[in-house]
Amino acid sequence: MEPSQPRDRLGRPLGVLRLSLTARCNLACPYCLPDGQEPPGLLDQDQRLRLIAAAVALGANSLRLTGGEPLLHPGLEALIAAAAAGHRGGPNRPPQEPNPAPLGLSNPPTPPLQPPDPPDQPSDTPATGLREIALTSNGTLLSRERALALRAAGLDRLTLSLDGGDGASVAAMAGLADPAAGERALQKVLAALDHARAAGFEPGRGALKLNAVIQRGRNEEQLLPLAALARERGVELRLIEFMDVGNRNGWRPDQVLPAAVMLERIQARWPLEPLGRPSHGTAQRYRYRDGGGHLALVASVSAPFCGDCNRLRVSADGIAYTCLFARAERGLDLRPWLNAGSDPRDLQDALASLWRGRHDRWSEERSASGGEGSTDPAERRAEMAYLGG
Ligand code: SAM
Ligand code: SF4
Repeated sequence: MEPSQPRDRLGRPLGVLRLSLTARCNLACPYCLPDGQEPPGLLDQDQRLRLIAAAVALGANSLRLTGGEPLLHPGLEALIAAAAAGHRGGPNRPPQEPNPAPLGLSNPPTPPLQPPDPPDQPSDTPATGLREIALTSNGTLLSRERALALRAAGLDRLTLSLDGGDGASVAAMAGLADPAAGERALQKVLAALDHARAAGFEPGRGALKLNAVIQRGRNEEQLLPLAALARERGVELRLIEFMDVGNRNGWRPDQVLPAAVMLERIQARWPLEPLGRPSHGTAQRYRYRDGGGHLALVASVSAPFCGDCNRLRVSADGIAYTCLFARAERGLDLRPWLNAGSDPRDLQDALASLWRGRHDRWSEERSASGGEGSTDPAERRAEMAYLGG
């Protein structure tokens, strides 16, 4: 029998389950390039809940739901409600005391906005032990009602993605036809930020953040507009280096704008004070010295953080990966252990032995080998929208 909370071969515990709910997306960001359709054998709600419960039993205390675009998944709220039922009182939990901890969670919505009734829950064991449930979304489908429903279901944190502050740059980064389409998407995401805040995702408590992928020569001129937009809304902006995930996005090292350069450009306008990278975190955090909130930089390429990476990724069809940059064939198909009637301990054992064998440190290896990434054109790697970021 595996120990209940295994460590991998580099001594790293399992802390976060990133679960992709769909490989599809309503956008087509060229740095991600999602599939038009789902892979066969998509997990159902009960299988997802079994998986969440097993990851929690092995030490995961954080669940991040992602995709593709997770708001395309019709059972999203029901899944959150069922997973949340085991943590802190479940959906529509009573108001909490203010919590200044890094994973601080916001209070439920205040009148006049009232959350709807929690959605029906699928039947399965709630994942007792989860400390937080988070979601990453492009935000274009986040209506006022959906934001309220997510909050009522028990979602703690929401990260929206936006790569530009005008229609032309949003169109270029989201794979949209023209600047007018980009402007419509931009307005939807800005409205989504308002809906999320009104539903109780308080940016000041870290419950609402904005991700932006910055690509050299493509949207680097959007750094200051994006920072201004986030500052105006009191939302932490997380600037992400363009990563060599998958095989399709044509990644080249010269397209990466290093986090240090991004920092320099933002600092020249708004001085920043470093706050460090939280343990197991992906981002170096900063505070604007003028009181304008926080900024974060995800330097996955220029300053890898493999050393304390605690994330397990599972695709929408139940394939587990222990690294974002994993080769496609390195995934473990969990479906044999996810069926009704399977002994939950068998699933835990399979996951524990996967985790105990883990020695991935791809980003560090890339750096050590000169930063060129994979040079083998035959090497097939799992795609970003499939893995869920
Ligand atoms: N569709 C949702 C969204 O865009 O937020 C969730 C899935 S998306 C794969 C998760 C995150 O990965 C997004 O913030 C996206 O910008 C980021 N991402 C996708 N491809 C990337 C790449 N090649 N390099 C860096 N970040 C990337
Ligand atoms: Fe869709 Fe997100 Fe990929 Fe963009 S990054 S194509 S929004 S899944």
